[in-house]
Amino acid sequence: MDRNDSVIGPVLMAVCLLAAAPAFAQTSGDPARDPTKTEVWTPVPTIVATPSGRAPSDAIVLFDGKDVSPWESEQGGSVPWVVADGALTVVPGSKGIRTKQRFCDVQLHVEWRTPVETKGFVGQNRGNSGIFLQDLYELQVLDSYNNATYANGQAGSIYKQAMPLVNASRAPGQWQAYDIIWKAPRFSQGGGLTSPARITVLHNGVLVQDDTVLAGKTEYIGAPSYEPHGCASISLQEHDSRVSYRNIWVREL
Ligand code: MG
Repeated sequence: MDRNDSVIGPVLMAVCLLAAAPAFAQTSGDPARDPTKTEVWTPVPTIVATPSGRAPSDAIVLFDGKDVSPWESEQGGSVPWVVADGALTVVPGSKGIRTKQRFCDVQLHVEWRTPVETKGFVGQNRGNSGIFLQDLYELQVLDSYNNATYANGQAGSIYKQAMPLVNASRAPGQWQAYDIIWKAPRFSQGGGLTSPARITVLHNGVLVQDDTVLAGKTEYIGAPSYEPHGCASISLQEHDSRVSYRNIWVREL
């Protein structure tokens, strides 16, 4: 290193500091350039704990692997499904189940698993269940791993209304997850539709429904339409398949 190198560094730093000084002064002197003018400090967002693999601290736990007391048969009465090994499993030929509590706008997390055994089951008969928002609007649960069916009836579809953006399905027997944002439809005092239902769904962390607008309640045959209603149960469908559920929680929005 020659003498010049040892001098250039400190000189350059000094020049930079001198050049920057007027800018700081100018910023602090001009209210329009004051960065604190656009800082919002209150109200402070509520703290929510988010333990890994468990419900957030402000969620309503609908199924924790053991307790089915938040649920009842869709006909009323006790849940006709089986609880074992931390999972709630459909009993084919029984009935669907619904929450006792009624919900409108929600964030809903549901983990589900279709049966390993697929032999002899094709299309809509392979691992079929469903999550009904407000008891009327079905987000399809189906084994859609190497299992062709109509696209608006596969996993991640709003049944017969909106196909998923992609097929993010895992193999049968593996746990999968839906994270759902549901905006309930709004009706006027006279019963007219003022705002349709909207849904956003992540399937295994992948966006499959992006603020999708629903045309009405789920129909097996014919076009969907709306009828006025209020908050309602979240329901899980019994569709002759031994689909299992675990870690279900909901946050009211
Ligand atoms: Mg279904």
